[in-house]
Amino acid sequence: MSDPSIRPIPADRIARWDYEADVVVAGFGVAGASAAVAAATAGAQVLVLERTSGWGGAAAMAGGFVYLGGGTPLQTACGFEDSVADMQAFLKAALGPGADEAKIDLYCEGSVDHYRWLADEIGVPFKAEFWGEPGWEPPTDAGLMYSGGENSAPFNTIARPAPRGHVPQMADKQSNGERGGGYMLMKPLVDKAIELGVEAVYDVRVQTLVVDADGRVTGLVAKQYGKTVAVRARTGVVLATGSFAYNGAMVEAFAPRIAGRPAASIEEHDGRAIRMAQALGADLAHMDATEVAFFCDPQLFIRGILVNGRGQRYVPEDTYPGHVGQATLLRNDNQAFLVIDQAAYEEGLTRPTATPMLRMPPTWVCETVTELEAEMGLPAGSLQTTVEVYNTHAANGEDPLLGKKPEWVAPIGSPVAAIDLRGMTGGFTLGGLRTSVDSEVLHVSGDPIPGLFAAGRCTAGISAGGYVSGASLGDGSFFGRRAGASAARN
Ligand SMILES: Cc1cc2nc3c(=O)[nH]c(=O)nc-3n(C[C@H](O)[C@H](O)[C@H](O)COP(=O)(O)OP(=O)(O)OC[C@H]3O[C@@H](n4cnc5c(N)ncnc54)[C@H](O)[C@@H]3O)c2cc1C
Repeated sequence: MSDPSIRPIPADRIARWDYEADVVVAGFGVAGASAAVAAATAGAQVLVLERTSGWGGAAAMAGGFVYLGGGTPLQTACGFEDSVADMQAFLKAALGPGADEAKIDLYCEGSVDHYRWLADEIGVPFKAEFWGEPGWEPPTDAGLMYSGGENSAPFNTIARPAPRGHVPQMADKQSNGERGGGYMLMKPLVDKAIELGVEAVYDVRVQTLVVDADGRVTGLVAKQYGKTVAVRARTGVVLATGSFAYNGAMVEAFAPRIAGRPAASIEEHDGRAIRMAQALGADLAHMDATEVAFFCDPQLFIRGILVNGRGQRYVPEDTYPGHVGQATLLRNDNQAFLVIDQAAYEEGLTRPTATPMLRMPPTWVCETVTELEAEMGLPAGSLQTTVEVYNTHAANGEDPLLGKKPEWVAPIGSPVAAIDLRGMTGGFTLGGLRTSVDSEVLHVSGDPIPGLFAAGRCTAGISAGGYVSGASLGDGSFFGRRAGASAARN
């Protein structure tokens, strides 16, 4: 469908600027707020344009994990040692293939400083308490958790494990996007921005870039209550409008596996900023990469085995649930069944969780695996062979096939159940504008587009093929700061 409104507008066609600032930021989520604070700290006059009626974006609804490490004060207070080298080795293995190594290196080297910035300068509260139960996030206000499978196979053989999921402290948390730790990241960030004199205009939807005769971005055109407004940026524009998870056509074109199943994102994530910059020649990266959530309580699936549509195990069940989601959707045709015996299922139900709504009842219950396999409609012998191999090694507390840790390995007994988890995935896109480590938007030629910066999920950040919880709030805030600082000094 033709959309001429996406094309950049020549600056000499703008008769009157309705708003003006040194740095203009599109989007008041985590990347936009971080950019605004950094630009204002550098002395710039900053204007944020936000499409909805309030700040926060997806970030304010998020669980709140910020992926940080290398020996943060919170890690130390919780009794964990970490190093920049271990964090780099882990992230390069977990976020690939094709992850931007320069970004990962810088992100890891700057991680302790970024923690101090969030905690000390912005005032984000982190409680020095480690949450060690399996799960998507702590159901309490504990501040630290494994959030990327660092202590699970194969990653525990690649780098020394350390928990790096830093969660802002939030009273009366709810894991349904209503009252998550992300709010307690965003509230202090926005308060700081306002304190520094950042101006925010709400209900204004950025549409197009304005470019001067030299190809430099000098502003934006937006819609405000049906009116077109022109906004001048004296030193730089920062795009921070989120992913393209809710743009059906873009998802079909670039990341079709996730089509029809957006999650952990908001409808405003329509990819417009990516298209606007593309129309100016911006390069893209990792447009096929997706975060994938798996909709089953980890307290249950860690105690059983996950099998695909052929009755075969395909992932160590004690890893980060997002790795389970990616393995299921991207490599096993979205086919998953949890096979678990009654004792393990009942034990799982007694354990604390942030996601009780993901505790499904068994779909089938049988006395033997042979019967179960038949009821599930799996080829005769397929599940029996899987369980026999698993049980043989589990009797010795081992899982040589996939490396599940001994503490979670136990032979599957009787009665035995299966939960139908086919299609139980959803997620958001990770690809977007290709940016430099200083958050300059890069032209397909490889050169920065003058005056244009971007951060957050409208860019390709530290994640490529893989994902860890906290990578989005983490790279959004980290490279958002760099975008704001770059735009201010531009
Ligand atoms: C329930 C839930 C749980 C999550 N948990 C985590 C987690 O624990 N850790 C983690 O790292 N990530 C998590 N995420 C994902 C994370 O919140 C997002 O990926 C992250 O917020 C992206 O940052 P961003 O700044 O790019 O976008 P956002 O934070 O969404 O901000 C983008 C802003 O831009 C605005 N906008 C969009 N289009 C326009 C336009 N045309 N003009 C002006 N403004 C516009 C939007 O309204 C929004 O306010 C979670 C998300 C959800 C919903």
